[in-house]
Amino acid sequence: MKQKFDDLALFGGPAEFPQPLCVGRPTVGDRSRFLERLNGALDEQWLTNGGPLVREFEERVAEVAGTRNAVATCNATMALQLLYMATELTGEVIMSPMTYVATAHAARILGLTPVFCDIDPATGCLDPRAAEAAVTSRTSAIVPVHLWGRPSAIDELEKVADRHGLRLLFDAAHALGCTYQGRPIGGFGGAEVFSFHATKVVNSFEGGAVVTDDDDLAGRLRSLRSFGFGPDGNSQRTGTNAKMSEAAAAMGLTSLEAFGETVLHNRANLAHYASELAGLDGVQVVTYDEDQSPNCQYVVVKVDENVTGIHRDLLMRVLAEENIVTQRYFSPACHQVEPYRTERPVELPHTERLAGQVLALPTGPTVTAADIRRVCAVVRCAVGQGPVVTDRFRQGADRAPVRATR
Ligand SMILES: *Cc1c(COP(=O)(O)O)cnc(C)c1O
Repeated sequence: MKQKFDDLALFGGPAEFPQPLCVGRPTVGDRSRFLERLNGALDEQWLTNGGPLVREFEERVAEVAGTRNAVATCNATMALQLLYMATELTGEVIMSPMTYVATAHAARILGLTPVFCDIDPATGCLDPRAAEAAVTSRTSAIVPVHLWGRPSAIDELEKVADRHGLRLLFDAAHALGCTYQGRPIGGFGGAEVFSFHATKVVNSFEGGAVVTDDDDLAGRLRSLRSFGFGPDGNSQRTGTNAKMSEAAAAMGLTSLEAFGETVLHNRANLAHYASELAGLDGVQVVTYDEDQSPNCQYVVVKVDENVTGIHRDLLMRVLAEENIVTQRYFSPACHQVEPYRTERPVELPHTERLAGQVLALPTGPTVTAADIRRVCAVVRCAVGQGPVVTDRFRQGADRAPVRATR
């Protein structure tokens, strides 16, 4: 276990892990079940276009979401895009800047204008008052994000949307299996979008889904996903190709079967991190409300440089040198990157403060309690001697042996 700052790989010590320990290793589930399913699709020679695996996956996702419909897509970015198209959004879309750029790009690429509003610093989710203050005559929708699986302030946001006649559509990419006031995420607002990207808690290689209780909306989404075709197989509207393949659904079904176990493992991991880092000044582990059935797919710490004397980015670098690959979910925030920062410069202090502090640490079913103890020993070593590490790094920045940061 690392104790003195000289032990850190950043300053020439041996790396704590021989192989990279990553955020978002894919959750595969039972590999033989996956291969069986894939073989089935090959035997049937039905690889895409509404095959049995995609339909089964949609049924399972709708069950988890508690919704009448799930429309599976090739990824969540396309799911968002289809949803914005199907609900005929125009003009401005109010959204949380504390998200992956896809939430905004999916709107921007359709000619819509993302309008970023500040977050509630207590949750990291869109602040309903800030959202309401941003409503103009051009606003057509609000798109909040359930950050790290923490539900947005849904009741308040519904009231704002109702008062102004706006659509309310959720980016629920992180929130599969989570609940709000006892009801599963999925059935809120006009629709919600999940991601099944390889790094997410349930993976289908690439994949996404829109879930909704609105049958007409689901019908339009199914049409848009497949070239705008109607039931007669002829094009009825401008559509695209955003279908999920059978191979992706085979993975999605298999990964979803492991979901319950994955969540238990993630919750245990989060508890290990919280206890290993307890009492470390300036490092706060983000915890979740048990009532909201958190999936705990992200272990996020907030690093307050004013207290630790080491910036989040340097801590990230220290960890990378130890083969501990972390992620800044989400930094920079959406309004701080192109094209938004040039097109619509805006200052959002709560978002910027949070974005400057967050670091997601490795978790998931392949990360063990022993791994976590070692990761936390490195964090304690670097943070406990934060000012020294920072000084040493600045002095030797050009000399220090630096492994490529992934
Ligand atoms: C991952 C993610 C997306 C995009 O999902 P893809 O399936 O990779 O397109 C969108 N929004 C959020 C908040 C995400 O984390």
